[in-house]
Amino acid sequence: MSKNVVIIGAGVAGVNAATKLIDNQFDGQITIIDMGKDPYKRPYEEVMTGFLGAGGWSDGKLTYHTSIGGQLAKYCGEEKAMELMDQVIENFKRFHPKPEAVQCSNPIEEPDFIKPYFGLRLFPVWHVGTDYLHEIGKNWFNFLVEGGVDFKWETKVTDIDFEKNIVYIGDEKILYDELIFGVGKSGIDFGKKLAEKYELPTEPKSVQIGVRFEAPQEHFQKLIDVSYDFKLYRKFDDEGVSLRSFCTNNNAAYVAVEETYGDHSYNGHAKKDEAYRNNMTNFGILMEINGIDKPFDWSRNVVQSVNKNGTGLYYSPTRKPSTTSEGVDVSAVQINEDDLKQVREEFRGYFKYIDGFIDDMKKVFPTLKDDWGIYVPEVKYLSPEPLVNYNNLSLTKYEQVYFVGDALSARGITVSGAQGIYVAEKLIG
Ligand SMILES: Cc1cc2nc3c(=O)[nH]c(=O)nc-3n(C[C@H](O)[C@H](O)[C@H](O)COP(=O)(O)OP(=O)(O)OC[C@H]3O[C@@H](n4cnc5c(N)ncnc54)[C@H](O)[C@@H]3O)c2cc1C
Repeated sequence: MSKNVVIIGAGVAGVNAATKLIDNQFDGQITIIDMGKDPYKRPYEEVMTGFLGAGGWSDGKLTYHTSIGGQLAKYCGEEKAMELMDQVIENFKRFHPKPEAVQCSNPIEEPDFIKPYFGLRLFPVWHVGTDYLHEIGKNWFNFLVEGGVDFKWETKVTDIDFEKNIVYIGDEKILYDELIFGVGKSGIDFGKKLAEKYELPTEPKSVQIGVRFEAPQEHFQKLIDVSYDFKLYRKFDDEGVSLRSFCTNNNAAYVAVEETYGDHSYNGHAKKDEAYRNNMTNFGILMEINGIDKPFDWSRNVVQSVNKNGTGLYYSPTRKPSTTSEGVDVSAVQINEDDLKQVREEFRGYFKYIDGFIDDMKKVFPTLKDDWGIYVPEVKYLSPEPLVNYNNLSLTKYEQVYFVGDALSARGITVSGAQGIYVAEKLIG
């Protein structure tokens, strides 16, 4: 019997799923509902909603590694994950008006001088070319329309009845046999609402917490020459902890305060304009800690306990906090070595990993010595991820409903598209 597949979200996940179904002569009905516009009507500046979703319309850098862009290999294994990502890249080339213009930047081998202290994550990136994304969108859309996909544009799904297989658009009802839920970041609140309403079980999450490290760029130049936004990492598998440098900024690198739930934490950004050059480097030293009960509450408590006088902390053996790109001091209370002992306690034994990371950076970058500072804390609060069956991404509680893309665990175009294809392959059987 032919099936009626409804896809919510014409983002990269939904579009890749539909493409896979059509390529395999799927004999059911495919309906895609999106609150944004088709690629002929979608304005360039509408970056979040519409055909090809978020990054597929505005940026188009396709990362190609299973440890980048969220979790994929967790569900299907490394080899299958790479094969699925290949399919996504091929789809972008296939609808590209000039496929030969798609470039792959393939970084060189890990340099010897950082070994044995750190690993350096190097991964290929396919650059589709921002200028071409809108043409790709139109070609891809035409293919799907010709393949029989029924699109409903500027149509917001307001509710779903997982028990009775009904999608609601206000009062209008659409029935489905199989539902692919690919609403991306713009649908994050909708996903959360459904997860609460249906009490969907969730994946255990890790804690992601650390500090923002800052130092003059000259100390890191040797590594920056190899990899501009380098990603150092190390793992302590037995202890359930891994660390990584996160979001590296150079040249005109500034530390920024983030306010979340009323507390301060830190992040960084870089300016392109030469006028802002300060020759600094900053990056997060983020720990991923597994096995903590109630990771959200745990992180919140640590963040609260290292806020003082309404802001975060700054420690350096020699330096003062920097200024922001607007020229004002980065908000932070400067602490001394004694106060840092208190911070170590608030991190409940985990700060030793950050200490170790910094000590080893001093070995790898010999000029660094005491010429650095840290802003405490940096934190990523991970939103709950619904528990799915790993073999097809269907909800463990409702097996006709498949979560894909950013609505599940992805954080990137290639992984999101790959998840869409993975589901479609299972539907084809
Ligand atoms: C500005 C920007 C640039 C980015 N650049 C890159 C990049 O270069 N490389 C990279 O790998 N990643 C990038 N990303 C991240 C990447 O875009 C996402 O990880 C990816 O798009 C997720 O795909 P998705 O299909 O899950 O969701 P999306 O692509 O976000 O698509 C979701 C779709 O669902 C629709 N939708 C949401 N809620 C509803 C509802 N209730 N009813 C109907 N429709 C709904 C939206 O309109 C949207 O079209 C970027 C993100 C942004 C915002």
